Amino acid sequence: GLTQKLQETFRKLRGKGKLTEKDVKEAMREVKLALLEADVNYKVVKDFVNSVTERAIGQEVMESLTPGQHVIKIVHEELVNLMGAKESKINISPKPPTVIMLVGLQGAGKTTMAAKLALHFKRNNKHPLLVAADVYRPAAIKQLQILGGQIDIPVFALGDKISPIDIAKASIEYAKKNARDIVIIDTAGRLHVDEDLMLELESIKKEVEPNEILLVVDAMTGQDAVNVAESFNQRLDITGVILTKLDGDTRGGAALSVKAITGKPIKFVGIGEKLSDLEIFYPDRMASRILGMGDILTLIEKAQQAIDEKKALEMQQKLEKQEFTLEDFLEQMQQMKKLGSLKDLIRMIPGIDVSKLNDIDFEENEREMVKIEAIIKSMTKEERRNPSIINSSRKKRIAKGSGTSIQDVNKLLNNFEQARKMIKQFSDIQKHMKKGKFKF
Ligand code: GDP
Ligand code: MG
Repeated sequence: GLTQKLQETFRKLRGKGKLTEKDVKEAMREVKLALLEADVNYKVVKDFVNSVTERAIGQEVMESLTPGQHVIKIVHEELVNLMGAKESKINISPKPPTVIMLVGLQGAGKTTMAAKLALHFKRNNKHPLLVAADVYRPAAIKQLQILGGQIDIPVFALGDKISPIDIAKASIEYAKKNARDIVIIDTAGRLHVDEDLMLELESIKKEVEPNEILLVVDAMTGQDAVNVAESFNQRLDITGVILTKLDGDTRGGAALSVKAITGKPIKFVGIGEKLSDLEIFYPDRMASRILGMGDILTLIEKAQQAIDEKKALEMQQKLEKQEFTLEDFLEQMQQMKKLGSLKDLIRMIPGIDVSKLNDIDFEENEREMVKIEAIIKSMTKEERRNPSIINSSRKKRIAKGSGTSIQDVNKLLNNFEQARKMIKQFSDIQKHMKKGKFKF
């Protein structure tokens, strides 16, 4: 998918110390292809790639980031801009009720979304009213009544013999009389954009003057979703878009194009069939998700603040020369601590299944780190640099000094030896990679 393709491209950049104009152009060619393949609108892709390229070349690279990281940062920022920079709130009317009209093609997910929104507002201490204004689709009214029942929200319905315009109008009166402060109108859809539908929706709009007209589009339809958005926007001047079925195997194109093409923000996304499967749309989170980065940028920024570059370089050289000692190990642990708790850190690594994190006992790990620190601190400088001199009487003294046991000291020494061997192997591989012996 899109995420995977972009990650491949960035992986190539990551290893580079310096980026040439050629590197950037080559990477942008790949980004362009990946976006087009993900069904992002052609014009949007072109503009996007141009602005990233312009910023990536020519600009001073931030000292704290490698050039590769810098390009990723720019791409991320431009993706965020493309989707609207900040999250877009629902326009709540100062004079209740706030009227929200949901429009869109048949099957896009309007009726489901109406109930999801009702639940969302209910959880925010509002008192929604659902309105059944789809009188054409068989069982549409029943569907809304069932959903309303599941979340204990009243559903205003007048059957299918009354016009949707009159139903909508009556529902507002009902809401006023019954202290319902948000009215959510579920309208009919068609398989395609058609004139009858548009005329009916225009009439409802005129009659109830909604605070929000939200277009519900199926994200799985890609480019089509964007075309649909354009048509609805031209006729109804919508106030925002809701993308549904983002949980499916979507190519992500719709999320990236809708704002650029219509000028209207995405406000919510549907991520499943359950009524709680609703998320407020945050452009920056979506951008991170698309780049498959978790919150990798935050991680880069945090690391930058905490780790002294010079020290990191020294450490690297020590590792390569096999001079890494327990003293360095202690120092590295202290640097790690500055980065925050282990759990928070791991959460930010892309591709980590957060649900699995619960299986790991982080507190145990952190207690272990405290112990290790105490042990190393109880060693003399000489012992830290050359652990092989630590005989049993020294071990006894260290254990006593750190409030641990001889087994603890042995464990640390063994682990350290193991780690040192692993580091050695690792740095050998790295050296080979630099020489170009390995290729991925
Ligand atoms: P409407 O014709 O626009 O009112 O669409 P419906 O609300 O009846 O939804 C059509 C189908 O899409 C139903 O089977 C819903 O369960 C499903 N659906 C709606 N939203 C989502 C979503 O976010 N994810 C998934 N996977 N299915 C959804
Ligand atoms: Mg419906």
